[in-house]
Amino acid sequence: MTDICLIGTGGMMPLKERWLTSCYIEHEGKAVLIDCGEGTQIALTCADCKISRIDILLITHIHADHISGLPGFLLSLGNASRTEPLDIYLPQGTLTAVRGLLGICDRLPFEIFFHELPIAEPTSFIAEKIDPMLEICTLPLRHSTRCLGYSLTFRRKPVFLPEKAKALGVPVREWRKLHAGGSVTLESGENITAEMVTGESRPAVKLCYVTDTLPFNGIAKFAENADLFICEGMYGELDKKQSMNKKGHMLMQDACRLAKSAGAKRLWLTHYSPAEKYPQNFKKELSRICESVVVSADGEKISL
Ligand SMILES: [Zn+2]
Ligand SMILES: [Zn+2]
Repeated sequence: MTDICLIGTGGMMPLKERWLTSCYIEHEGKAVLIDCGEGTQIALTCADCKISRIDILLITHIHADHISGLPGFLLSLGNASRTEPLDIYLPQGTLTAVRGLLGICDRLPFEIFFHELPIAEPTSFIAEKIDPMLEICTLPLRHSTRCLGYSLTFRRKPVFLPEKAKALGVPVREWRKLHAGGSVTLESGENITAEMVTGESRPAVKLCYVTDTLPFNGIAKFAENADLFICEGMYGELDKKQSMNKKGHMLMQDACRLAKSAGAKRLWLTHYSPAEKYPQNFKKELSRICESVVVSADGEKISL
């Protein structure tokens, strides 16, 4: 089971009733955080997310609303007695700026490992720390600075059938190995393979997070068949389209079109402009473009 929480939905600056866009993804007791704007550690607490479980931080880009919460977040992690290293992934060429923020975090009780990701082409890696079956992919976005979209694909083992394992006489201590795809030789000499004790394969769970970009077709391809597509929607007023696109942003309607063409099962909007006081007002209009749209509020949650 993967629990996802959009802990904030604001762009540019935090408001009294809206934290900055950031997403917490927990999977079997370990978590990934995407982006860390001002006050993120407080927003995590408000949303009942466990800061101590975060092992990986993915940074989209180094605009303040996505990164300026890093010192407070790291100090809070230290305060939670963390000693395990933290992995931070970020776009190539942004490490110096991020390291600069660490200058005000004295004596953290854990190590930080940085991983710079290419900005000229998409890349992917396995997030072994969270789950050996979790693949994280990137998509270079079109913003005013180097910026990456992320997708997280949790592949799942097929269903394990204990009654079949029992009937074949496989000791319980060997079940885990078989469920992971291995094989076991019984005392009788009989060889038992994973296929003999597992059932149907289960579809992977795919989450896609794209914010601070012009809309372009590559995003729809990137978010193809996502179970959850989280995408920016700065405004719902159509007359703002040109000025937004010029600044490397998109409207709620742009996000809806991308979700529709991606065949995403759900779309959560986020990164509203502070001037967009009531994004919910656009719900009806947006639903006509994309039925599954959720005009998210802080703390939006789902288990997939
Ligand atoms: Zn932003
Ligand atoms: Zn930005």
